[in-house]
Amino acid sequence: MSKPIIVQKFGGSSVANVERIKAVAQRIVETKTKKNNIVVVVSALGDTTDDLVQLAQNISEHPPEREMDMLMATGEQISCALVAMAIKELGQDAISFTGSQVGIVTDNTHTKAKIEKISARTIRKALRQNKIVIVAGFQGMTKNNEITTLGRGGSDLTAVALAIAIKAQVCEIFTDVEGIYTTDPRIVPEAKKIKEITFDEMLEMASLGAQVMQPRSIEVARRFNIPIHVRSSFSKEEGTMIIKNTQKLEDLAVSGITCNKAEAKITICNVPDKPGVAADIFTEISDAGVMVDTIVQNVGHTRQTDISFTVLKTDLAKALKATAVIAAKLKAGEVLHDKNIARISIVGSGMRSHRGVAAKMFQTLAEHKVNIEMITTSDISVSCIIGQTQAEKAVKALHKAFSLEE
Ligand code: ADP
Ligand code: ASP
Ligand code: MG
Repeated sequence: MSKPIIVQKFGGSSVANVERIKAVAQRIVETKTKKNNIVVVVSALGDTTDDLVQLAQNISEHPPEREMDMLMATGEQISCALVAMAIKELGQDAISFTGSQVGIVTDNTHTKAKIEKISARTIRKALRQNKIVIVAGFQGMTKNNEITTLGRGGSDLTAVALAIAIKAQVCEIFTDVEGIYTTDPRIVPEAKKIKEITFDEMLEMASLGAQVMQPRSIEVARRFNIPIHVRSSFSKEEGTMIIKNTQKLEDLAVSGITCNKAEAKITICNVPDKPGVAADIFTEISDAGVMVDTIVQNVGHTRQTDISFTVLKTDLAKALKATAVIAAKLKAGEVLHDKNIARISIVGSGMRSHRGVAAKMFQTLAEHKVNIEMITTSDISVSCIIGQTQAEKAVKALHKAFSLEE
């Protein structure tokens, strides 16, 4: 196929209503008339997925994950059909497909399925017929024909995976901001758009809560070295390129700040301080299917210690149940939890070679009377768990302290 192939993904806010769908169709047709082959990936309209999750919760406290996938996958099926119709209205030929129809085969992990392979045959055939291909994001199918979804924000992953499968020239992610910013522009209006960012930094920012890209999509893009252009569906401005290496001579100590309010903290008080206890606790929690993030264990002076850790709020009920069981077995004390926490992180590749970055973060938080409850570090980030009510204040202060608005 001689014409270059472009993958364009439009997020929920870009297809939130009829006007937006028509505007997106217009934009797709413009790219097509510039002699490109286009594969479009769409998310569900606006907040559809959240609404579907809520609907399920009104019926069942713990809905079966298989049925959740059946339910959630419908959102993207609606939007891909509507976008295809809007394109046809503009006189171009388009065809919509679900994830399974384009051969996205996943494992069996309902609601967080991993893509195992993609057969690009259906897409290639439609492109040869000069059609614009619209694919429902966020979904696939197991070998046994079970519908699966790829984790929240998973349409980004669909777009990157398809770009790899059909050897696209570029993968464009259209969203409601003009690119990747130094921090969430909804929290800090002075945040600056970043021209280029490395896969490593973007992966760290996404994993630490910058909602703009799904972390797994960046992991896959990095593995296959697929450049991603994040840009606005509301303007023609160039956005941010996510690439292997940027043109910068030296890395900044801190290039971005993230804020994540999706976690909750659990504390087990008065745990016996002896070998094997941490293993017992975290095996029980892992067996319950819960992922644990930050863990802090205090030094015990009285043969007892407190252990605190964070889990996703969506896993809190499951985690508390497992924690109560193991705490009783170990004859530990009370189990406490706190949903009102936030993880504030600073990210930057230059951290590897700059001294005093963490100290500056802690000083800044202290000056703003923000109490730090837990700390974790990686080679390119430092995270603090703080009270949720102080999250915005902390992000603004750190953005200023690290001169990111300049
Ligand atoms: P979509 O519906 O297009 O998938 P998302 O809501 O998933 O969009 O992601 C876009 C949002 O991510 C933005 O509206 C912005 O508030 C938020 N965001 C968080 N951190 C950042 C950041 N560093 N740069 C840009 N946007 C960010
Ligand atoms: N609609 C799904 C979600 O809200 C997938 C996506 O938007 O990428 O998580
Ligand atoms: Mg998204």
